[in-house]
Amino acid sequence: MNFEILHKDIMGRVGKLRTPHGVVETPTLMPVINPNIDFIPARKMTEFGAQILITNSYIIYRSPSLREIAIQIGLHRLLNTEIPLMTDSGSYQLMVYGDVEIDNSEIVEFQKEIGSDIIVPLDIPTPPDVEHSIALNELETTLKREKEASEILKNSKSENLLALPIQGSTHLDLRRRSAEEVSVMGGDIYPIGAIVPLLDEYRFADVVRIILEVKSTLPSSAPVHLFGAGHPVFFSVSVALGCDLFDSAAYALYAKDDRYLTPFGTKKLKELHYLPCSCPICSKFDAEELQKTGKSEREILIGEHNLWVCFEEIRKIKQAIRENTLFEFVEERIRSHPNLITAWRQIRDYLTLIEMHDPSIKRTFFYTGVESILRPAVLRHHERVKNIELEAEEFTISTDVNKSADFYLKPVFGIVPAEMLEVYPAGHSEIPPAELLEEEALIEAISSLRSFLIKFSNKKFRIYADENWEKYLAGIPSNAVVVK
Ligand SMILES: [Zn+2]
Repeated sequence: MNFEILHKDIMGRVGKLRTPHGVVETPTLMPVINPNIDFIPARKMTEFGAQILITNSYIIYRSPSLREIAIQIGLHRLLNTEIPLMTDSGSYQLMVYGDVEIDNSEIVEFQKEIGSDIIVPLDIPTPPDVEHSIALNELETTLKREKEASEILKNSKSENLLALPIQGSTHLDLRRRSAEEVSVMGGDIYPIGAIVPLLDEYRFADVVRIILEVKSTLPSSAPVHLFGAGHPVFFSVSVALGCDLFDSAAYALYAKDDRYLTPFGTKKLKELHYLPCSCPICSKFDAEELQKTGKSEREILIGEHNLWVCFEEIRKIKQAIRENTLFEFVEERIRSHPNLITAWRQIRDYLTLIEMHDPSIKRTFFYTGVESILRPAVLRHHERVKNIELEAEEFTISTDVNKSADFYLKPVFGIVPAEMLEVYPAGHSEIPPAELLEEEALIEAISSLRSFLIKFSNKKFRIYADENWEKYLAGIPSNAVVVK
C-alpha cells in the first residue's frame, strides 16, 4: 500500500503517500511547473511548503530539446529538484486544442522513462453538460487507455505510481461507473478530472456531488486527487469530502493577471488598499508598493504570496483534522460565497456515507449555523435516543438544563436523557439560547421529540418549556402535556 491514513475527520484525512522520491503528507497541493516558462523555479517550491510538484510530460515530449535532455538526465535533474514529481499526459492540451500528437502508450512509456513518480495516461477530460452518449463514448476510450497504462506498468514492474483519472462529465452514473472500473484496475491515485470548468463558474454544488458519488464508489483507502483545483477557497470543502491532493497553476495564472488569492476569494491587486496577509511578501511590501513594482517582478511576488496562502490553508485544514474541528472550519469557510453554502448543503443527501467515516467522539460541538444540523453527531444522537428503554410510566422533560428532569429538550438535538447531559455531543455542545437561534435548530429538536413521543405512546410526559418553544410544541402527540 502506498497510502496510509493517519488521522480522520468528517471524510477528510491526514495521510502519507509513498512515492519513489519520498513520502508526501496529504492533504497537499502540487504546484504546477511549466518547464518552458521561467517563473518560480521547482527547487524553490519547498520553501512555501510544497512536498510534491506536477509538470506536464507532453510539453517536454513535444519539444525535441527538452525531450532529449529529459531522457538523458531524468525529469528530476531537468527541473533541478529531488522531491516527488507527478506528470500530466497532455489531456489538458487535448481538452483545449482537441488533438495531441501522441498516443497513450507512447506518453505512458515516456513518463516512465524520464522517472516520473506519478504517471497519468492520456485520458479524455470530457467537459460538463455534454450529452450522455458523448460522455459515455469518451469514457470508454479513457477506460481502454487506463487499462493499457496499467498493463504497461505491471509488465515492466516499475516503481512509478499510476494515476487513473475518473471522468464522465456531469453525469453522475458515468462518474460512478468510471470510479468502479478504475478501482478494479487498481491505480495508486484517483484524480477526479475535468472539474475546472465547474470551479471557474462557481458551480461548487456540482463538484461536491461528483466528489461524493466518486467517494461512495471508490475504496475509502484510495487517495483522491481533485485535478486542477488550486484555489484555497475550495480546499476545506473538498478535503472534508475526502480529497487528498490538489494541483495548482492558479498561483501563477492569477499572478499574471494581478489577482491575489485569499482563502475567502480572489482580490484584484489594484483594488487592495491593505494586504490582508502576513506572508513574507505581504510583510515586506504594502499594497501600494506592490502595485508599483514592475510587471515581471510583481508577477513573481504575487505568485509567491499565492503559494504562501495556499499552503497556510492546507496547514490549517490539517490542524482542524487533528483536533476534529473540521466541521466548524468548513462551516466558517463556506460563508465566503453563497454557492459554497449551497454546495455544502448537498451533504444532506449523503449523510449515511459521511456518518460511516466521521469519528463519533469529538471534544465539543460548536454550533455555527443551520449547516451544523447536518453533522453526523446529530444523526447519531437521534439514533441513540431511539434505542432508549423506559421502565416507569411517567416522565418529565424540561427545556431548562438547570432544573431537575428525566429528559431535556435541547435545540438541534431534541430529546436528551439526563444521563447524557455530560456526554458528547448533546452534553458537550455550545449552542446559542433558543430565543437567539435559527428556527431550523428548534424544528429539528421538535422532530426528534415527536418521534420519541410516538415511540413511547403508552407512557406519559410532562413538558416544562419556556415561551420560546411554545409555538413549536402546539400539536405534539397527546401523551405529552405542556406545563407553562
Ligand atoms: Zn501574502
